[in-house]
Amino acid sequence: MMITVDEALERILSYVDVLEPEEKPLLEALGQVLAEDVTSDFSIPPLDNTAMDGYAVRAEDTAGASQDSPVQLHVTGEVAAGYIFEGEVAAGTAVRIMTGAPVPAGADAIVPFEETDEPFGQAPERAHQVDATVQVFKEAQPGANIRRAGEDVRKGQLVMRKGRVLRASEIGVLSSLGRASAKVIRRPVVAILSTGDELVEAGQPKPPAKIYDANAYGVGALVRRYGGVPRLLGIAKDTVDALTAKIHEGLDADMLVTSAGVSRGDYDMVKEVLAREGEIDFWTVAMKPGKPLAFGCFRKEGRQVPHIGLPGNPVSSMVTFELFGRAALMKMMGKTDWQRPVIKAVAEERIVNRDDPRRFYARCVVTERDGRYYVSLTGPQGSGMLTSMVYANALTVIPAEVDEVQPGEEIDVIMLDWSHGEEWGTASPQEAGP
Ligand code: AMP
Ligand code: MG
Repeated sequence: MMITVDEALERILSYVDVLEPEEKPLLEALGQVLAEDVTSDFSIPPLDNTAMDGYAVRAEDTAGASQDSPVQLHVTGEVAAGYIFEGEVAAGTAVRIMTGAPVPAGADAIVPFEETDEPFGQAPERAHQVDATVQVFKEAQPGANIRRAGEDVRKGQLVMRKGRVLRASEIGVLSSLGRASAKVIRRPVVAILSTGDELVEAGQPKPPAKIYDANAYGVGALVRRYGGVPRLLGIAKDTVDALTAKIHEGLDADMLVTSAGVSRGDYDMVKEVLAREGEIDFWTVAMKPGKPLAFGCFRKEGRQVPHIGLPGNPVSSMVTFELFGRAALMKMMGKTDWQRPVIKAVAEERIVNRDDPRRFYARCVVTERDGRYYVSLTGPQGSGMLTSMVYANALTVIPAEVDEVQPGEEIDVIMLDWSHGEEWGTASPQEAGP
């Protein structure tokens, strides 16, 4: 049965559920979804404090101050961030104060060093000492350079709601609330199994007719990138016993991903074993690359373990995992806003999609020039050619009914990496192509 990408996605998502929460140390929770509302039991900042290095003064004392007729104030003390000045700023006096220090009683403005005769960055021996006189060259308004208690977070405030994804900013906020850990939806463990007599594990000697297993690592890295925990089960030979044993090893995980053995080869036992061990559906998804896809469910000890059977060709397995496996991971992690950005880009070459009416996810390089996006393919698009993925930062979305795209036409592309190659090491456009 031929189904569309959207139908396949909908069915897969109907089988996966949000996982349960766990308490996680903050840094390890990066990218996980908050499973609790976070309120604050104190204010941030806790006290009125200074935003500048300078002098805490009574604003009224500086009335009329100018470069030509400075006001002179008597320096009675000094206060650094983290300390409270015990005295008071009385009329005609000032307290030397450092950024972040609580504003002393009596003071209602901070005069920055730059507006005094003690310029900022002065060598310590030229800084004013306690008991000296400071000259103020500018009038200060009440409240000047003072950060108010609670201006960031008020005591009792709901700071973050559950469902929020913890990025660096959220983790920073949690730590500013004194939290060392957070309650988050746990990461899915994904068991990954490669199948095929032809496969050899990386690091082992390779007989001439064998190939190294690329899928476990390509897919495993995607699992990790999207926040899951990959568990590599290794390689299963194309025999019923080997496959059955390996599949059972994977059923403690939250999801099982196998690759290969779902097409029509004589030696592909995966289909048969899967059908015997659980519920399974074989789909022909109307997409290129990656036509055969299996999806099903195993039951173990009352738990339901969703299973995605990816096509064997390495490009197909990565692209189908990008589209379906990633979505399942996102749902399990409690994410709701996970759709990748789809943008319009101008084709720089002809793209042919005539051979067979399926949606074409060609590997491509998207670049930006003068505010427009341009797209070119990464060269030959054979589904066994994994290097075509290396150069790509996006996938085209050529509808099944479009036979051919002409240079200059605009098409949709799914961005896989936004950073123009730096963050994830994708290619520069010069490097890409045949
Ligand atoms: P199959 O789905 O078993 O017919 O495999 C399709 C193609 O993908 C064959 O050329 C396999 O050799 C290749 N293939 C399957 N699994 C892997 C893998 N883990 N790494 C690299 N190539 C693979
Ligand atoms: Mg095979």
